[in-house]
Amino acid sequence: MQIVESVQDVRKIRHVESKFVWGLVPTMGALHAGHMSLVNMARSDCDRVLVSIFINPIQFDDPTDLEAYPRTLDHDLNLLREAGVDLVWTPTPEIMYPAGFQSSVHVNVLTRSLEGAHRPGHFDGVTTVVAKLFNVTQPHYAYFGQKDAQQVAVIKQMVRDLNFNLEVVVGETIREADGLALSSRNKNLAPAERQAATVLSRALFAARTAWTHGARDAEHLRQHMRGIISAEPLARIDYVSVADPLTLEEQQGEVRNALLSMAVTIGETRLIDNVMLLEQ
Ligand code: AMP
Repeated sequence: MQIVESVQDVRKIRHVESKFVWGLVPTMGALHAGHMSLVNMARSDCDRVLVSIFINPIQFDDPTDLEAYPRTLDHDLNLLREAGVDLVWTPTPEIMYPAGFQSSVHVNVLTRSLEGAHRPGHFDGVTTVVAKLFNVTQPHYAYFGQKDAQQVAVIKQMVRDLNFNLEVVVGETIREADGLALSSRNKNLAPAERQAATVLSRALFAARTAWTHGARDAEHLRQHMRGIISAEPLARIDYVSVADPLTLEEQQGEVRNALLSMAVTIGETRLIDNVMLLEQ
């Protein structure tokens, strides 16, 4: 496994191995089984697997969140080596954003709701860095997790709009046995908070069950989820949403297909999760 920092080194390797099919898995490190499921998908689809590890400062709207973000590079590299990854790119912030950097990629409508409404500038940071990752690494396939459902929608839109010559592949959300979606931020939860954090998946699964049994009113589903989260003293709701899965706009009235999603802060740690409801 090769580990490189500079854009030139990635380009050189990518060029020498240009006859192969390349898969890219973009990450911010602190790797867990959710990341590794994407790596394994890439490993089985592609000849060459490239993983980027970069904590992208411009997608953090809150400096304390950036500072608190876990960093476990040695552990990450061991996991990636064991998984048979070919190339790891670990650029520094100065490599990604040298002095004088002034460009940005903006996806318009899809970024207005949900995370976009609550984290100003977040998606501009995401699309800008992902566009750079795509341009440098030129993958045939790029892997993203459904855990970040709006991110997937926004990146697919960017790929369509800007004619990136690659296919976005989406991996299902990997969860702990008790339902908690794996997240690098889970490392920051104290034991009592870790217990409380199951409230996100409990609320989502309860709403999904209610929907399956015929509860189709959007506001009813939102209230159902809110009620479950409110019963957890360590949890503070940022938003609870029943949105159209394509437009990500909030739904009213009868729900057929929906993206149920939420952001909830447990102690100091902001967590997100979602489930998709699709009629057969
Ligand atoms: P991050 O390092 O948090 O930026 O995540 C890197 C990639 O891993 C993103 O595409 C995430 O959506 C994906 N990911 C994060 N958590 C999970 C999970 N629990 N299951 C599947 N994919 C995930």
